[in-house]
Amino acid sequence: MGKKTGFMEYKREKPSERDPLKRLDDWNEYSSPFSEEMSSRQGARCMDCGTPFCQIGMDVNGYTSGCPIYNLIPEWNDLVYRGRWREALERLLKTNNFPEFTGRVCPAPCEGSCTVAISDPAVTIKSIERTIIDKGFENGWIQARIPEKRTGKKIAIVGSGPAGLAAADQLNQAGHSVTVYERADRAGGLLTYGIPNMKLEKEVVERRIKLLTQEGIDFVLNTEIGKDVTADELKEQFDSVILCTGAQKQRDLLIEGREAKGVHFAMDYLTDTTKSMLDSNFKDKKFINTKNKDVIVIGGGDTGADCVATALRQKAKSVVQFGKHPKLPDSRNPENMWPEQPHVHTMEYAYEEAQAKFGDDPRQYAIQTTKLVADSKGNLKELHTIQMKKIKNEHGKYEFQEIPGSEKVWPAQYVFIAIGFEGTEAPLMEQFGVNMTRNKVQAAYGDYKTNVDGVFAAGDARRGQSLIVWAINEGREVAKAVDTHLMGSTVLP
Ligand SMILES: Cc1cc2nc3c(=O)[nH]c(=O)nc-3n(C[C@H](O)[C@H](O)[C@H](O)COP(=O)(O)OP(=O)(O)OC[C@H]3O[C@@H](n4cnc5c(N)ncnc54)[C@H](O)[C@@H]3O)c2cc1C
Ligand code: SF4
Repeated sequence: MGKKTGFMEYKREKPSERDPLKRLDDWNEYSSPFSEEMSSRQGARCMDCGTPFCQIGMDVNGYTSGCPIYNLIPEWNDLVYRGRWREALERLLKTNNFPEFTGRVCPAPCEGSCTVAISDPAVTIKSIERTIIDKGFENGWIQARIPEKRTGKKIAIVGSGPAGLAAADQLNQAGHSVTVYERADRAGGLLTYGIPNMKLEKEVVERRIKLLTQEGIDFVLNTEIGKDVTADELKEQFDSVILCTGAQKQRDLLIEGREAKGVHFAMDYLTDTTKSMLDSNFKDKKFINTKNKDVIVIGGGDTGADCVATALRQKAKSVVQFGKHPKLPDSRNPENMWPEQPHVHTMEYAYEEAQAKFGDDPRQYAIQTTKLVADSKGNLKELHTIQMKKIKNEHGKYEFQEIPGSEKVWPAQYVFIAIGFEGTEAPLMEQFGVNMTRNKVQAAYGDYKTNVDGVFAAGDARRGQSLIVWAINEGREVAKAVDTHLMGSTVLP
């Protein structure tokens, strides 16, 4: 174990974050890796407990507990404590294809089920993970691993998000020839166009794509399967196809005034901003600019938070985020015990920034938008709301009730809709003849086979909008299923 008494001697430390006001002047990452000393101290806090719940990766009461890719956390904590970085990296890469992504933006369900967290703040697992992989790149320990032999089998992967990339990496290492098709002009899925640069710098994604290309994976960009290449063509040309198309079909807000100019889906806002930044450092002006405008983000989740942070960097006049649910408690309530993921109030990067800029947390809780109102030219001018209360009905189920007299009118020239995703897009699946259930591809977890022979599915397209770490898990697992399908057994971990 790290240090027998480490968890009693050392406190949890967070990695340093740039000043919330100053970082609004650029689009660079807001957090930094740990120093060696800090990593070692935090590694020393690991208790190396008999059953490390941090790495169990299972659903408990509908939420993820522990690491979904079963990272060997106590092992690398110990190695980091002892300064054996290269061995820590080897352990990390045994289970995680892309720790540079998870170490930056994973919500770290591992930390919620860390044993230290029963009585004290958890070991800072995610930041140690980031420091190990960043060190690996800095020291040149990460080099292209070009497979020595090829099997002659050809696999097409549709979609280059983390699920597609993890599947491609695994299958390429097994010696198969892998082609990844992506309809966007850059690979990475939501890692590139979705998660903003200040959370995950795009150089980090590009560096990994370059490495995978050097290792022999073929990326075909600007190519939409179903339009530019048909499903039949793909099935004819390849021995297996994996559908990793994500779940980016956005849920709409069907209320009065939705057609007003200035009302957009959050994903259009985030994608255009990143694309304009990467293409021209915003010189092409091909993005929605909220400078000096009143912005309201509808939807209380992470996508909404990313819109808040984006609007703040564009120097919006005001930014507010509406959530459907009441504010979470500051500590776990009795229905949400360890090792479940804690459902507690947290201050994410975007809210710290808004607080620093405007002196207030931008979140409004238990609020419902009732209508949007445009001026005579059709431009959005205001938004109407009512407060809600969450109550348990006579059947023990929670429901929301309007609070009479709580109506309010908010000025707004821009509204971003971030109320979730409905699933993957049906037309492509119809072309493949693949069955769907509630906008998800039908393929059992652990099996990944669709009803069409040789066609598999993984990631958000199969499970619905989720997390990068689950996409990596499914990418690794579907690779095993495809390898077995093609070769009769699998060599993949
Ligand atoms: C704004 C936002 C922020 C997020 N932040 C986080 C976070 O901080 N941490 C976290 O863990 N998770 C986060 N997530 C969730 C996470 O990004 C996803 O769960 C993950 O990217 C899913 O991976 P995937 O490979 O299944 O799909 P995606 O990443 O969605 O990739 C699917 C790819 O398929 C391509 N595609 C679709 N159809 C076709 C076609 N017909 N032909 C060719 N290509 C096609 C798409 O263009 C896309 O590039 C966030 C999600 C959003 C929307
Ligand atoms: S991938 Fe996520 S859950 Fe797994 S160890 Fe890293 S931060 Fe924790």
